[in-house]
Amino acid sequence: MPNFCNGCGNELKEPLEQYEAYEGMHWFCFHYAYEHFTDDPETPCDSRHCPTWHLEILRTEFISRGENPDEIIEKAILEKWSKSART
Ligand SMILES: [Zn+2]
Ligand SMILES: [Zn+2]
Repeated sequence: MPNFCNGCGNELKEPLEQYEAYEGMHWFCFHYAYEHFTDDPETPCDSRHCPTWHLEILRTEFISRGENPDEIIEKAILEKWSKSART
């Protein structure tokens, strides 16, 4: 019997116990529903677990190493797309 996320409504892939701390939601759904105290999901909040903040950390780290995060993502999209186009 599948269980569904109380946030997005999609099926939960792990056993339900794994989601008990998050009120039966995906961690992402729980964070953006209850913990992300800003109106904008693209603006990092003060939680140390904020996924938006984590992305910003990674972007900043890449930039500090002289790499362009947008180019890295663009490259990944092209690679994925060319793979799926081949099938
Ligand atoms: Zn969800
Ligand atoms: Zn957040």
